[in-house]
Amino acid sequence: MGEHPASTLNPDEPIIGKHSPLVNGHPHFLSRSPEFGVVGAPCLHFYASPGTVQRAARAFERDLDGANLLDSQVGERLNLQIHQIEALQSFTVGSYQVTAFPANHDPTVDSLLYAVEGGGRSIFYGTDTATLSEETWQAFHRHEMRFDVVVLDHTYGPDEPGSDHLSARQFIEHIARMREEGLFTDRSCAFATHIAHEGNPVHPELADFAARHGYEVAYDGLTV
Ligand SMILES: [Zn+2]
Ligand SMILES: [Zn+2]
Repeated sequence: MGEHPASTLNPDEPIIGKHSPLVNGHPHFLSRSPEFGVVGAPCLHFYASPGTVQRAARAFERDLDGANLLDSQVGERLNLQIHQIEALQSFTVGSYQVTAFPANHDPTVDSLLYAVEGGGRSIFYGTDTATLSEETWQAFHRHEMRFDVVVLDHTYGPDEPGSDHLSARQFIEHIARMREEGLFTDRSCAFATHIAHEGNPVHPELADFAARHGYEVAYDGLTV
C-alpha cells in the first residue's frame, strides 16, 4: 500500500495497539497529558484490546497524577478517542478495513495482531508474537484473508530456538504454511521484523539468508 502515504488518507490519526502504548512509548500518546492538553493536533484514535486499554489506563494513572484515561473529559482534553477491539473483530479505520487476530504474546493484555485491507491490497502485521495459534490460522481462512504483504516477527536467528517470539526457522515455517494454505498470492512478499541480536547475523548476511529462503529483511526507513 506504498502508493498511499498514510497521512493523506485520514484527517485523524489512528494508532493500533499491540499492547501498552506507554511501554512502546508512542510519542503522540506521551505528548498528550491532562495538564497540557493538545493544541492543534488531529484527534488520536487509539485501537486496542480491553486488556491493553486497562494496562494503558493504569500506567497513565500512575504517571500522570491519577488522571483517568477512560474518563470522557480527560479524553476530550487529550483529543483522544479509545476504541476497544476484541480478537477476530473487523472494523473500519478511514478507508481501511482492519481485522484483529490473537497474538501469542502477553495473555494478560490480550495482545492482538492486525490485518489491514484497503484499495484492493492487504497487509498482515504480525510482530511481537510467538508461533501463531490454530485459532488464528483458522480465523485467517474464516475471514478469507489473502495477504499481499506479510510482516512477521523474526526475533531470533537461524540457529536459535523460538520461545516468546519467533525464530528465523519458525518464520520460514509460518511463511511456508501461508503459501501452502493459499493465504499468499503469486506476488506476495514477506518481511522479517522485530530482529534481535540473539543469533541474527549483520544485515547483509541476514538478507542473503532471507533471499535463499524467499523472504526479505525489513530495515529502518523501508517503504513497501
Ligand atoms: Zn517483543
Ligand atoms: Zn511485546
